[in-house]
Amino acid sequence: MLLVAALLWPVAALPQPEIVLVERRSLAGAELGATDAFTHRLHLTVVNLEGSGWTRERALEALREAAAILGQCGIAIAGAEWLTLSASPRYLDFSTPAARDLARRYPVARPAIYFVRDTRSRPAFDAEAIGRGNSRSRPEIADTVWITVATRDAGIVLAHELAHVLMDSGAHSDAPGNLMREQTAAGNKALSAAQCERLRETGSGNRLLQR
Ligand SMILES: [Zn+2]
Repeated sequence: MLLVAALLWPVAALPQPEIVLVERRSLAGAELGATDAFTHRLHLTVVNLEGSGWTRERALEALREAAAILGQCGIAIAGAEWLTLSASPRYLDFSTPAARDLARRYPVARPAIYFVRDTRSRPAFDAEAIGRGNSRSRPEIADTVWITVATRDAGIVLAHELAHVLMDSGAHSDAPGNLMREQTAAGNKALSAAQCERLRETGSGNRLLQR
């Protein structure tokens, strides 16, 4: 019946939705490895673009690892809203114009993580974090992280980019084993007491963390 109705409907009158919600799912903190030992809660929106190449399993694994890393600062990913979007291929690869357009057409709660296919930015980073300080010319994508499917050590990279957003800082650390080294690597997961303090203070001040 539906097919017939669709066929009979004049094609020109059909809306051409470019962004369609395919799936919405609430992820509980327990699914993301949250324990009771935390002082601050982080609620995330997770946007997976159909065709990005990310599987739910891999994305969840990255979220769990990021949660464990942020846990050392007393921050728990207390829940996440998982959204799978079907969108025009032009949104699959990160660029500031495409990202702004996507966020404007399909606004989501922040902070938000977008699992994307690739990047058109040059230099091409595997992942990008947009905080407050680097979003004045692109306010639509403040407090977001964009991570490409080619990213290695995705959980560590996700934690690194989320830390940039929560600290609202692009600063890096030279300390051995630190999460915020410019080059992320397996095993670099540590955050100093001062970094944790900044994460909690700035994140709370910008209402990205709740007590
Ligand atoms: Zn960085």
